[in-house]
Amino acid sequence: MQEDSYRHKGMRLNLVQVLKAKGITDSNVLDAIGKVPRHVFLESMFVEFAYQDKAFPIGSGQTISQPFTVAMQSQLLCVTRGMKVLEIGTGSGYQACVLAQMGAKVFTIERQRNLYMKTKSLIAEMPYNIKTFLGDGNKGLPTFEPFDRVLITAAAPEIPQDLVNQLKTGGIMVIPLNDETDATKQRMLRLTKQPDGTMLREEFGDCRFVPMLKEIGRD
Ligand code: SAH
Repeated sequence: MQEDSYRHKGMRLNLVQVLKAKGITDSNVLDAIGKVPRHVFLESMFVEFAYQDKAFPIGSGQTISQPFTVAMQSQLLCVTRGMKVLEIGTGSGYQACVLAQMGAKVFTIERQRNLYMKTKSLIAEMPYNIKTFLGDGNKGLPTFEPFDRVLITAAAPEIPQDLVNQLKTGGIMVIPLNDETDATKQRMLRLTKQPDGTMLREEFGDCRFVPMLKEIGRD
């Protein structure tokens, strides 16, 4: 794993200021962004880009989400220490580490085998409580339910019913749901599970994610 120098730490604190200026207020989220070394999730030659507020390609046609998106989704999720959080779309593993740094027990699913293998070994070197799984996130993890929180980090064509079923009553799901009128974007939704099983829906503007696909990828 790449070292974490004072220079990296300084760049991280700058990023935290940028995110604050853009409206992130949850101090647990800001604290976690200030601590998790984002540069280790990028190839070493791209280290200069690690602390800019931009998404970045990580291979296999996938991206590490923009820090603002990671911060916004983490904030909407209202995570507190000890919660069980299911993440769909492990990708680089950065979002999972931010949630773990916030004190969550993270379960994360990735459908692309090569990305899963790469990220699994990177996460194993980090001091976090994260379990990685290869599979179709639409199905969730029936063995480990129920979850306090579900975070989807790919563009979902619909709300996956299996994931609703695996959420506790009072639990929260954050999901970028495809916009029916514009296929290029999604609406960021926060869904809270009610005692009767229905989902209370709140909307938080437009966003853009890579698509959530079905089945395990051969790509
Ligand atoms: N959370 C990631 C960013 C994810 S990009 C990070 O912090 O870097 C979205 C990821 O979702 C991609 O890696 C993609 O392969 C994965 N994905 C897409 N469809 C999926 C599915 N059905 N199940 C699990 N992962 C999926």
